[in-house]
Amino acid sequence: MSNIQQTLSIIKPDAVERNLSEEIKNEFRNNNFDILKEKKVKISKSEAEKFYQVHQSKPFYNDLCEYLSSGPIVVMVLEKNDAILENRKLMGATDPIKAEEGTLRKKYGISIDKNSVHGSDSLDNAKIEIDFFFKD
Ligand code: UDP
Ligand code: MG
Repeated sequence: MSNIQQTLSIIKPDAVERNLSEEIKNEFRNNNFDILKEKKVKISKSEAEKFYQVHQSKPFYNDLCEYLSSGPIVVMVLEKNDAILENRKLMGATDPIKAEEGTLRKKYGISIDKNSVHGSDSLDNAKIEIDFFFKD
């Protein structure tokens, strides 16, 4: 049965800075994701704090928000059958050291914090995150 979904993907500052945006976008296209929307932005720390609100009690929250607001990012709405799960699979584990061979974080990630990509983890969060960046 078809289950077309949209998910939010972010190419994080470490990957944008290394000029990997086009290569990573091609990874999505080659894995049959349609890039419906995309823009390059630089967000403020307070915007990053809002985006990562769910992590506010975590020890890494402050560094994470500093990092996401440290340079340009590319945000995209990706569409595919089972897009949320399929994107999480393509991204691989949060820590690049633990990510499977062939995944984006294995290929491009530098460390658990500089792990090159973000992807929504649920249908509800995908809607919230897409609205966060693309609500007109
Ligand atoms: N993160 C970190 N240290 C940790 C765990 C997470 O810096 O110990 C960062 C990492 O960049 C990760 C983000 O916080 O991508 C959000 O964490 P989450 O557990 O939601 O991982 P994800 O959903 O991105 O795989
Ligand atoms: Mg997450």
